Amino acid sequence: EDQIILKHVTKRFTTKTLGTVTAVNDFNLNIHEGECFSFLGPSGCGKTTTLRMIAGFEDLSEGEIHLCGQPVSIKEKNLYVPPEKRGLGMVFQAFAVWPHMNIFDNVAFPLQIKKVPHDEIRKRVKEALHHTSLDNMEDVYPSDLSGGQQQRIALARAIVTNPKVMLLDEPLSNLDPKLRESMRFEIKALQRKFGFTVIFVTHDQSEAMAISDRMMVCDMGNIMQIDTPSNLYNKPVNRFVHNFLGQSTFLHVVLNHGQVYARGDMQNPLPLAIPEHAEREMVVATRPNAIDLNRDHGFKTHIYSRVFLTDTTEYLVPMGDQLLKIQTPHRIAFGKGEECYVDFTHVMWYPEEDESAEAERAK
Ligand code: ADP
Ligand code: MG
Repeated sequence: EDQIILKHVTKRFTTKTLGTVTAVNDFNLNIHEGECFSFLGPSGCGKTTTLRMIAGFEDLSEGEIHLCGQPVSIKEKNLYVPPEKRGLGMVFQAFAVWPHMNIFDNVAFPLQIKKVPHDEIRKRVKEALHHTSLDNMEDVYPSDLSGGQQQRIALARAIVTNPKVMLLDEPLSNLDPKLRESMRFEIKALQRKFGFTVIFVTHDQSEAMAISDRMMVCDMGNIMQIDTPSNLYNKPVNRFVHNFLGQSTFLHVVLNHGQVYARGDMQNPLPLAIPEHAEREMVVATRPNAIDLNRDHGFKTHIYSRVFLTDTTEYLVPMGDQLLKIQTPHRIAFGKGEECYVDFTHVMWYPEEDESAEAERAK
């Protein structure tokens, strides 16, 4: 069941200095009920703008948005439902908590606006505080609390109205790494308990991977790919997505007479089968942990350098005019200069110039 639908949603901003910027270009999205869906991409790619349009804080330049089967924004018909009537819970990075209000007032605020009766407010605030591990903290002021607890206040305020959809815009980015990780689990636990749909915005790949059922990767106002974390990691549609979701090595290759050669070495073919629709010059993308470094099969080369990292050993091996990065468990030990063989366990093929090559250069 699709709960959040975006059709051809576009947002343009016009400023004196930059002229017209397309922040969000023709977004089409279907988010299912109960799903945890992330918007992932570098700063400025349009994540917050998209979220603000879903929340109703931002007008659309084109397109339409439907929530729970109801249209909430349709540009063509000038249809627009204000934020307070959209039934959403929100935690934004920018306005976390109000320092001059105690926790009770911070959390009760959305209910007070709705003129919910006093007794009911007391009861629901107590429940929300319980679910965010802030029991009996009603009278405390946010300044007396840690960053993690403050973010829990924001979460409590978001769940107190019992929303069907929760919008979280980089809610963890002000927290230290350890706390970020534990808060991920708390958000997932809340979601399981209440069953709401989550849109989670982040520029942090591992955070998005850990929390999402599906995610959208975007760049410069364009959707690059929508899929599950494992499909995005294993089958990225272009080099931008490949590079954004994990360590990447892009090996430039030349195809000749049914063989694949590393650029700069037309003598020794690589152990790779040519895919369909290949052009003469291609890019083979792989990851340092998806290469088999061994002593008897594959492409013959030698160890150019070796670095001992915390969890792996990292090698560079020459391949044509490039150096291929390989990470292996420490037990697979080669010395500097030693002869070795390289086989590929998983690769993706991309054209030499793909739609994301420009973006990649800009990074
Ligand atoms: P993200 O959240 O992915 O970092 P944003 O959605 O905040 O990106 O911004 C996307 C683009 O839209 C950026 O180029 C940003 O400068 C521009 N933008 C966002 N809000 C405004 C605004 N109110 N006026 C002008 N430009 C804006
Ligand atoms: Mg943002």
